[in-house]
Amino acid sequence: MGLTMTVNGPDISGLPPLEISGRIGKLRACLVGDQPDCLVVTALANVRYLTGFTGSAGVLVVTPDAAMLATDGRYRTQAAEQLEAGSVSEVELVVGRVDAQREAIVRIVRDSAGGRVGFEAEHIPWAQEIRWAELFAPFEPVATNGLVEGLRVVKDEGEIARIAAAAEIADAALEEVASMIEKAYTESEVALALDVAMRRHGAEDRAFETIVASGPNSAKPHARPSDRVIESGDPVVIDFGADVDGYKSDMTRTFFAGGETSTRMAEVYAAVLASQVAGVEAVSPGVTGGFVDEVCRTHLRSVGLADAFEHGTGHGVGLDIHEAPSVGPGSAGILAAGAVVTVEPGAYLAGIGGVRIEDTLVVTTDGRRALTSFAKDPAWR
Ligand code: ZN
Ligand code: ZN
Repeated sequence: MGLTMTVNGPDISGLPPLEISGRIGKLRACLVGDQPDCLVVTALANVRYLTGFTGSAGVLVVTPDAAMLATDGRYRTQAAEQLEAGSVSEVELVVGRVDAQREAIVRIVRDSAGGRVGFEAEHIPWAQEIRWAELFAPFEPVATNGLVEGLRVVKDEGEIARIAAAAEIADAALEEVASMIEKAYTESEVALALDVAMRRHGAEDRAFETIVASGPNSAKPHARPSDRVIESGDPVVIDFGADVDGYKSDMTRTFFAGGETSTRMAEVYAAVLASQVAGVEAVSPGVTGGFVDEVCRTHLRSVGLADAFEHGTGHGVGLDIHEAPSVGPGSAGILAAGAVVTVEPGAYLAGIGGVRIEDTLVVTTDGRRALTSFAKDPAWR
């Protein structure tokens, strides 16, 4: 039998364009006060955000009056095309071997007004930092944290449309694959079917390694799919997402194979669902991520499951599957309209099973809108 590869997902080509061209200007507006004058951007997601360049190697330098993208020969044509497509043709493109790239970067920094050059402390290995410090001497390297990530928190219309499309694809893929859960397939088989379905519905990739965890494996929040055959009555935690044009979605649903389970697991499911629904409703502009976490946690605590919920409630989603703002105990960042976050409480009973339910939501001016919409009610188990 031949492969049927009908692509019937959302129309990706009809999505509103990404507004890339103003982003470097917004970054420059942050390079004031105690911040350095120039920033060497080494995190690829940040390079992509600021320029539209999607290659696997590249360094962007932003100075007060210039910007330069350095990459290697594999990306000569692609980088030029993507800078043009993003309307960021003011970014000088340097293509060459690593030495030539470094030389060009040092030159543009030396030519710029200030003498303080910033690095993304969270994204630069120690050895590389030492090498850069030697090259830039006597300029002083300055550690920065989250400058571009801060700009990425509030998404524009084009970004939200891509995350929504990724979420829609994930919904459709799960709809197709859910019936496999009761038919004695292995975890790996279900995971592979989901990955293929997402691609067939128009995803560029999966957002991260798909989790399908059944029976006792479901009590491990980040289990990898194994060759374990799913048995009737097993809880099955499925956590996965799609990638559309670099933007990701993230959703978890928990099923009970064959629609039946123990009284205890049914209670746990009801508790996690109530916690998740309360957490979703708590997401509003102006509240902290910590507040949403506490709402979910309070609920699980009230039914004696505090110790069974050992991870944070959620995280931001965008070009990275885990990005700002965080939604965990004490997360002080305020949720702003346009931020995209997950709410994913869970409860895990070692050796028995676990339940997690997760949606990806966009914060709106008057609350939130769920982008993932696969049913959560028990009828779907
Ligand atoms: Zn997830
Ligand atoms: Zn997540």
